[in-house]
Amino acid sequence: MQDFLVIEGVSKAFGARRVVAEVSVSMGRGEFFSLLGPSGCGKTTLLRLLAGFEAPDAGRIWLNGQDITTLPPERRPVNTVFQNYALFPHLSVGDNIAFGLRIARKSRSEVRAAVERMLALVRLEEHAAKKPSQLSGGQRQRVAIARALINEPQVLLLDEPLAALDLKLRQHMLTELTALHAQVGTTFVYVTHDQGEAISLSQRIAVMNEGRIEQVDTPRQLYTAPVNGFVAGFIGDANFLTGTVQELLPQGHVRVQLAGLGRPLVMTGQPLKSGQEVRVMIRPESLHLRADRPGSHERVNLCQAVVEAVTYFGPHVRVQVRCGETRLSLQVAGPALEVGAVGWLTFAAEEARVVG
Ligand code: ADP
Ligand code: MG
Repeated sequence: MQDFLVIEGVSKAFGARRVVAEVSVSMGRGEFFSLLGPSGCGKTTLLRLLAGFEAPDAGRIWLNGQDITTLPPERRPVNTVFQNYALFPHLSVGDNIAFGLRIARKSRSEVRAAVERMLALVRLEEHAAKKPSQLSGGQRQRVAIARALINEPQVLLLDEPLAALDLKLRQHMLTELTALHAQVGTTFVYVTHDQGEAISLSQRIAVMNEGRIEQVDTPRQLYTAPVNGFVAGFIGDANFLTGTVQELLPQGHVRVQLAGLGRPLVMTGQPLKSGQEVRVMIRPESLHLRADRPGSHERVNLCQAVVEAVTYFGPHVRVQVRCGETRLSLQVAGPALEVGAVGWLTFAAEEARVVG
């Protein structure tokens, strides 16, 4: 059921500029949901609308069946983890975490028990008496998360929480966040511009662009069936080719004239007309290169290619080839043909998609 947190036609402008434009999206209870998009696309603004720090110009927000559109932030069962952590520097870790419950005037014993539970949850039991300045970046982030979770919000909003951490710590925190989410079962709405983070953490992702949502889907669907070129280019690497529709075939197959690649069969999720100009996307790992000409198979596309560059990246190899005047990037596991070699490039129709 994806009707726990419902955003319905929400818009927000600053001056003449609409930074959130008619956004509608729903999230399920306990879901790990990400808002993913380039810097400036309106992610933080949408999060602030959910938290109640901003009021929408239009639209409604529902939480668990209740219209919360006009509720002030402190009356929403929602907490936020900010990018810069926003910890109180003069308070200890324990007091930072306790803050929300003290404001809510909970009893001393209740606060103490909850703080202990939270310290254990984020594995900071040993650090309760320290000041934030005595902690590492990753530990500070965990304090911020514990502080936001202590009063058991129904939704936890996280705004680029790993952006300030170095690569190694960020990767470690991805595992921690996944475990934490599984343990507390709270609905997480996670904002990031980093597709890798969103893909590894989320059950579903909304890809945003200029205030709008382009696609809401599972990471796998976004990767294999992006609805347009923006999503295809934002999630993972892709080759984009322009071509002309030749022939429409059953089951979403379409024959397209592509410069340098002849007339391959590709897939489409949208209605097309013969003669229409289209953009086709093929992932680097969907292209295969071999020295010998493969036997004929009706669903496999084939063309000749010259190897232009080979770059080794640990376990895989990036190969750039040229088919006629068209350049394509491939990812192969294991040894590649040498630069200057002529080989046969193949790809399955199911691995090439019309994206616009
Ligand atoms: P993101 O988090 O995706 O980077 P933001 O939601 O922070 O994007 O910002 C979207 C756009 O709205 C940006 O162009 C930003 O400059 C503008 N913006 C955000 N907050 C305000 C504000 N309070 N007043 C004016 N413009 C703002
Ligand atoms: Mg932001």
